[in-house]
Formats: sequence, C-alpha cells, structure tokens
Amino acid sequence: MKNFTETILIVDDTETNIDILLELLGDKYDVVVALNAQSALEIVQENDIDLILLDIMMPNMDGYELCLILKEQEFTKDIPVIFLTAKDDEESIEKAYKVGGIDYITKPFKPVELLARINTQLKVKELIDHLNFISSYDEMTGIYNRRKFFELGEAKFSQGLDDLYCVMIDIDKFKHINDTYGHPTGDKVIKLVTKSIAEHIDSKAIFGRLGGEEFTILCTHSSKKEVVSHIEKIRENIEKLEILSDSGEVIKFTISEGVACADKDTKSLDELLKKADVALYEAKGLGRNRVIFR
Ligand code: GH3
Ligand code: MG
Ligand code: MG
Repeated sequence: MKNFTETILIVDDTETNIDILLELLGDKYDVVVALNAQSALEIVQENDIDLILLDIMMPNMDGYELCLILKEQEFTKDIPVIFLTAKDDEESIEKAYKVGGIDYITKPFKPVELLARINTQLKVKELIDHLNFISSYDEMTGIYNRRKFFELGEAKFSQGLDDLYCVMIDIDKFKHINDTYGHPTGDKVIKLVTKSIAEHIDSKAIFGRLGGEEFTILCTHSSKKEVVSHIEKIRENIEKLEILSDSGEVIKFTISEGVACADKDTKSLDELLKKADVALYEAKGLGRNRVIFR
C-alpha cells in the first residue's frame, strides 16, 4: 500500500534533542521541526503530517495544551501524537493519554525502540486511512459510494434547502457494451463517464455511484432552467466521448438523466431520489439519451 515517504513533525524546544532525532529519522522519513507549539500549529496547517513527536515541557504552551488543540481540530485530530519527554512520573503519563496521545516514550530513549514504535503507529494510521477510504469511496471510480452518498446526502437534505435537486444518471444499453466488448471494456466506459461528469459538476455537489452503471448527483441550483441546462450539458459531453475496443473498434455510449427538485412535500432524501428515478425511467421509455425533469 505504501508508496511515499511519511512526514514526521518533531516539536521540541531543545535543539540538541532535535539534532539527535534528525540524525535518527532523517534518512527514513521527511522530518519537519517546530521549536514551540505555536510554530507547530502553523506547520500542520501547511503540511501533510503523518505523525508528531511531542515534547511536554516547552515555554508558553506545553505539549499537553498543544495536543488538546490538535485533537480538537478536524484536520489534525487523526494525526498520531507520540509524547517524547524526560518526565517519567505516572501523573504525566496519565495526562498525556488523556489529552489524546497515542504513545509515551521517555528520554533518554533507545533508538531501536523509538523507531519501532513510530513504525507501528504509522502502520496503524495507514490502515485506518485505508479503511476510511474504502468505506466511503467506490474503488473503481474514486467517487462516493452508496453509503457515503446517503450519509452526506441526508445531511444536505436536512438543511431544508428549497433549491435542492437530485439527478439520477444511468448509462444506456450498457449490458450491450459488456456483452459485445467484454466486462473490462464496460469498466472503462464507467470510469470515463464518471470522469466526465465529475469534471462538469460544482465542487459542492455530492456525486456518488449508487451501483453498477447508475450515478446520482445532489446539488443546488438557482433555477430549474439552470439545472436543466447544466444536466443537458453533461449528457452532451458524454455523447461526444468514445473509447476503442480491444480490436480497435470505436465505441460510443450515452446516458439518460432524470432530475427532480425537492419541494415542501418531499419528506425524505429517499423520496427525492424516487422522484428522480421516475423521471429517469421516463427518459429510458422515451428512447434514452435524454434528460427528463419531474
Ligand atoms: P438501460 O438502457 O435500460 O439502462 O439498459 P442497460 O443494459 O444499461 O441496463 P441493465 O440494468 O439491463 O444492465 C446493466 C448492466 O451493467 C448489467 C450488469 O452486468 C452491468 N454492470 C453492473 N456493474 C458493472 C461493473 O462494475 N462493470 C461492468 N463492466 N458492468 C457492470
Ligand atoms: Mg443502464
Ligand atoms: Mg441500470
């Protein structure tokens, strides 16, 4: 899974400590250094940090306080923090875990042990990140999977927006593409369709693969006219795409789209999706490769 060098942030106010750690970690990891808590907080804003080695006794803000802040901030709360300190009393150790530290190592440390414990935490972090990814994203296309789409969609729906639209998208006669050119070619079509749609939607839109060759977009637009012209454009873009089969044949494909708008009678996200699905079904019945608004 791993194909990059992890970045470790060392936070310590004593330069000799930093020198020892740089010597030990510098060859294996990208290392960033902060001489105080304030500068650490600035560094985590600008860098992707995979793990933090944190001293406790520092002027102004100590390691505990810094750790508390890191664990409260959404974008830093999952970075593992290993306390690395001269304090070895039970009270200090207990407090370090309480504020969110994941491990506690006392100075002077044994280099082999420090390296092993860093490595363990990085591995755990990598596994957690991977689990988070596969539980939220569709592996083949990289967009939200069904579960994540509904989680984010329910949250958006509950905001009660009156300009909320749902678009159901389905690739036309897709079974025919699979049957004629094979499943891997079908996969290529799904990926290309996804990429094209993703490139043409607003960054705030929630775009997910509900299953097979079916996609959904949940978005806000200022008017029905605007949403229809936007969705029509997505259909036109896909109509223009093509891929080559294994034998060099040009393959064209189209999509049908059903659009629905949430109004005061729409009680749930499910209901909105059903409305868009009815429109999609109608688009299929009318000959496919078209947009129907309900
Ligand atoms: P329609 O125009 O009415 O939507 O017809 P269709 O052939 O697209 O619809 P149908 O639901 O009959 O067939 C969809 C096919 O998509 C069946 C299924 O085997 C295939 N499929 C589902 N998931 C995948 C996938 O991940 N990759 C590939 N290649 N095919 C898939
Ligand atoms: Mg289809
Ligand atoms: Mg289908």
